[in-house]
Amino acid sequence: MANEFPFEISPMFEGERVRKDDMFVELAGPKSRGFELVRAAALDEIEDGKFTLIGPDLSKMEEGSRHPYAMIYRIAGKLVEPDLEAIVERRNHDFQNYIQGYMHLNQRYDVWVRINKDAIKKGLNSFEQIAKATMMLFKNELSFIEKIEATYITDPDEVEKQRAEAIKIYEARDARTKGLHDEDVDVFYGCTLCQSFAPTNACVVTPDRISLCGAINWFDGRAAAKVDPEGPQFAIPKGEVIDAIGGEYSGVNEKAVALSGGEYSRIKIHSFFEYPHTSCGCFEVVGFYIPEVDGIGWVDRDFTGIAPNGLAFSTMAGQTGGGKQIIGFLGVGVNYFRSPKFIQPDGGWNRVVWMPKHLKEKIKADIPPELVDKLPTEENVTDLKTLKEYLEKSQHPVMQRWTKEEAAAEEEAPSETGGAGWSMPSPSMPAGMPMQFGGGGTKLNFKNAKISIDRIIFKSKEK
Ligand code: SF4
Repeated sequence: MANEFPFEISPMFEGERVRKDDMFVELAGPKSRGFELVRAAALDEIEDGKFTLIGPDLSKMEEGSRHPYAMIYRIAGKLVEPDLEAIVERRNHDFQNYIQGYMHLNQRYDVWVRINKDAIKKGLNSFEQIAKATMMLFKNELSFIEKIEATYITDPDEVEKQRAEAIKIYEARDARTKGLHDEDVDVFYGCTLCQSFAPTNACVVTPDRISLCGAINWFDGRAAAKVDPEGPQFAIPKGEVIDAIGGEYSGVNEKAVALSGGEYSRIKIHSFFEYPHTSCGCFEVVGFYIPEVDGIGWVDRDFTGIAPNGLAFSTMAGQTGGGKQIIGFLGVGVNYFRSPKFIQPDGGWNRVVWMPKHLKEKIKADIPPELVDKLPTEENVTDLKTLKEYLEKSQHPVMQRWTKEEAAAEEEAPSETGGAGWSMPSPSMPAGMPMQFGGGGTKLNFKNAKISIDRIIFKSKEK
């Protein structure tokens, strides 16, 4: 059946990257707009295999060009229900990456696609070929889908119009978990879809923590596990509560050991520093510890500038992903900012010291009102010096940590320094965290370093 296509289709092409020089076209992505969406429909509403294109086809696109791109699928089947939409939608990423020469990244409104020049040379010339191959994979792999049709859009105005509607649908899905909390359920859901490129990553999806890709919430996990219990989404009985604040459960730990191949043995679902959730690479937002102010900054994929620690999203994403517990960096879904348990063992919102303006605007309604003006963006601060000044000026609650740490440091200060030396407040940095020292002329990055320091004394240079 796959012979009808001018490209090979196999899971072995997952992970294939299309670099800029090899790219025929770029679709959606950070410099354009797009989305992917799956909607459930009644069996008699769907014409199985139908494809509609709104906008120019691949054959009309110039080499090296960039275009908006939307992919909408309607699915039907006796077991298909709206709760399955997000799960099926997430598989678009997998299945499209089975297509040789076609790279699909991210999800929902963040999709980013590139098509390789070689694929065009081999005969790929229409989005219909892509859509038909993807629909074939959906039906082959997800047996509950009995009928499917696809609409792809490359017309810029139509992408904009339908994207606005899609965002309302994503928001409505995410809002369903608002009244439900971790303590209200006995079962969480796991997902190992991303083990193809991050083999030790297993996402744990709970009512209070959406998946880090932002595409799968607790209800979605439940629906997927119901129709395909042996599939990549599955139930995780919580077991005993070990740490209610950090979000540690015996059932999750048991499953984590089994799924990580022994890479780690404990997960605290809401902790930033202690046994944090792993991050595969699909996260919508990266959290990064800033030792200089003992706070946590957050940066999302849409931010193309440099965060106050001197690093871009792409650099920090590289440190965060890979399916390991990286203490000091954490990948999350945007909706996790709306969780009442958001990094609660680490101070929650009181520990948040920076995020890009557009991300802040997106989640403004969920930021505690008293913190909204105290939280700087790229418009207020540009580096560690201006960050510290802003936090001091706005009396950000993270300053309470500085006072405590300075007091503790003073108490411990040895008498021989006579108080003349300066002791750096030693933030509660767990062993193993990536540390960055910067702000002056030198920056040192220690990734996964275990450094234990009892005391640092700075003395002026003898002349
Ligand atoms: S990021 Fe996690 S929840 Fe999302 S698809 Fe990957 S493994 Fe599944």
